[in-house]
Amino acid sequence: MQFENSREFARKLDKEDKISKYRDEFIFPKVNGKDVIYFVGNSLGLQPRSAKKYVDEIMKDWAELAVEGHFYADKSWWDYHERFSEKLAKVVGANASEVTVMNTLTVNLHLLMVSFYRPEGKRYKIICEEKAFPSDQYMISSQVRFHGYDPSDAIVEIKKRNGENNFRTEDVLAKIEEVGEECALVLIGGVNYYTGQVFDMEAITEAGHDIGAFVGWDLAHAAGNIELKLSEWNVDFAAWCSYKYMNSGPGNASGCFINKKYHNKKDIPRFEGWWGHNKERRFLMEPEFQPEVTADAWQISNAPILAMAPYLASLEMFDEVGMPALIEKRNKIVAYLEFVLHEIDKDVESTFEIITPVDQDKRGTQLSVFLHGEGKELFNYLMKQGVITDWREPNVIRLAPAPFYCSFEDMYEFGQILKKGILNK
Ligand SMILES: *Cc1c(COP(=O)(O)O)cnc(C)c1O
Repeated sequence: MQFENSREFARKLDKEDKISKYRDEFIFPKVNGKDVIYFVGNSLGLQPRSAKKYVDEIMKDWAELAVEGHFYADKSWWDYHERFSEKLAKVVGANASEVTVMNTLTVNLHLLMVSFYRPEGKRYKIICEEKAFPSDQYMISSQVRFHGYDPSDAIVEIKKRNGENNFRTEDVLAKIEEVGEECALVLIGGVNYYTGQVFDMEAITEAGHDIGAFVGWDLAHAAGNIELKLSEWNVDFAAWCSYKYMNSGPGNASGCFINKKYHNKKDIPRFEGWWGHNKERRFLMEPEFQPEVTADAWQISNAPILAMAPYLASLEMFDEVGMPALIEKRNKIVAYLEFVLHEIDKDVESTFEIITPVDQDKRGTQLSVFLHGEGKELFNYLMKQGVITDWREPNVIRLAPAPFYCSFEDMYEFGQILKKGILNK
């Protein structure tokens, strides 16, 4: 499609957008009395209007039913988390039995590593990407030390080539083959948080299995953003937070995927609690743990219902719209943003370098942009103009126009504001 950098053209794209009406289902912060242009749905998604209703429902049931709410609330609490499985499974490409919601992301990755990082003999290394999200680095390092290994020996980082912005699949696969039978686990962020690069999860998972390792994915930047086929790719485990693209609210619960081939494994190491116990017998308070034969066996505590309510509200919208429609709009709006940036760049003399892959199959909603010669003042100026982006040192802004609520006109408007900011400096 031939794009144009004009308000009329952007409005035309909005008119053609089949899911544009969902913008009204979200609450936008205001700056100077106007809705902001929100580019940080990859950090904290906007609040769906329905979230409050779902929370109020719980508050009402708690007031009116108190403990009886566990069984008699409209959405009973004892099995509240089960309402997520089927719908979330569609978002991540899994069977409903393979998906559950619990705890928070880093906590879940730790718990999953209890099951899937089992160093033994010469097989003890973890392969991850260099400069992984800091929480993942701390987590992996502490796991390795917990098992008595030295992180500088046990953690193998996949590196980018000098002068390149993204990882090459061939390099990832080569590293996996090289570490071979010393590798216990491959654990990578499915979408890189800094550049927005999407990894070839299918090929990497297969390569990890070929050398006898487990393969897990941190899907913080992937869930609700890109097409996932966790079951088909035969991934062992994965986890994601829900407050980024999935709009569930600050610090909210994490989703987990555990491949069904492990559900029936009696001897799988796992930290257990009563919410993972056979649900029909949970309240019989028996001494012996009898696991559910689904991902729910990894549940430990009773679920934080108040926190999960907005996640459920949001998930129901994902279910209504479906990932294919979101991805279709995503591809178009990101391409339009890219076009607008290139157009503006002609006027500001090559300030921008987009470090996110150009290929739509290798990226999701995010474009990371190097602003050569620009400092943090530009970011501050954008904030004051009601453009919410995020700044990463040294001078990268990450722009993630979430397809659920961002408009094409937002992209045009952003381009104009950005151009002014650079030219008037
Ligand atoms: C956002 C993010 C996290 C955050 O972890 P929490 O436990 O939810 O605080 C972890 N890993 C990655 C890759 C992220 O992008």
